Amino acid sequence: MALLAVTVISCRLAAQVNPAQPAWTTPFPPFRIAGNLYYVGNRDLASYLIATPRGLILINSDLVADVPLIEKSVATLGFRFSDIKILLISHAHYDHCAGSARIKQLTGAKYEVMAEDVPVVESGGQDDFAYGADKSMHFPPTHVDRILHDGDTVSLGGTVLTAHLTAGHTKGTTTWTLDEPFDGRTMHVVIVGSPNVNPGYKLVGNKAYPQIASDYEHEFEVLRNLPCDIFLGAHGSYFGLIAKYARWKAGDRDAFVDPAGYRAYVADREQAFESELHRQEGRR
Ligand SMILES: [Zn+2]
Repeated sequence: MALLAVTVISCRLAAQVNPAQPAWTTPFPPFRIAGNLYYVGNRDLASYLIATPRGLILINSDLVADVPLIEKSVATLGFRFSDIKILLISHAHYDHCAGSARIKQLTGAKYEVMAEDVPVVESGGQDDFAYGADKSMHFPPTHVDRILHDGDTVSLGGTVLTAHLTAGHTKGTTTWTLDEPFDGRTMHVVIVGSPNVNPGYKLVGNKAYPQIASDYEHEFEVLRNLPCDIFLGAHGSYFGLIAKYARWKAGDRDAFVDPAGYRAYVADREQAFESELHRQEGRR
């Protein structure tokens, strides 16, 4: 019993902070991106709030230590944290989902996760194909209330989000899309789940994830074909949050409208994947 308690505490602490990534716990001003879509994340871990007449949707709970920051950002924008009805994530890594158990506890939100990421979320990271044995990547296990599949939609108060399975980075990495009114037009918003091949990822002969390479190839095909006006993602670094926010703050309300930046980012990440795949294939 005592041993179990210690294990639980060490898991929670591991998911609290990452000393190598100070931006992951650095506050960032919340702001409106377009329509009813707001940024409520920190300096790099991106969280999004969608405010509807029937309540709030939150995408990404970030680290356990970030939950109070998200709470504050939601309040600063004039919304009630307890009105979060649905909690979604970009993918089941602790930097995007460690705070989920706490947020569910505080709000009673329904946690909706892509099927292939559910075992990871519910095991607190122990089922992760790459990091399962690494305690520093574990997080509080969290029950999933609705299991999503590719193409499923999440609806609340007139807003509809679509879940695109864009796996590889995790088995259930999810790219979210929605439409937002903006300057009298409809803007296609893309929140990229993650197209990145982490250091140490085995793309060839991966027994824990045999189809990893073909999943990444499928992901890039999906991302290439998504219509995108407003380019967002799981980390601010994907889409240049800090530079774009500086423009936004200076009055440029189009700062996040960046279809060319989206295409360039996807092409760059696909190139990085291809060269890593070729490097690993060469070793075989
Ligand atoms: Zn990740």
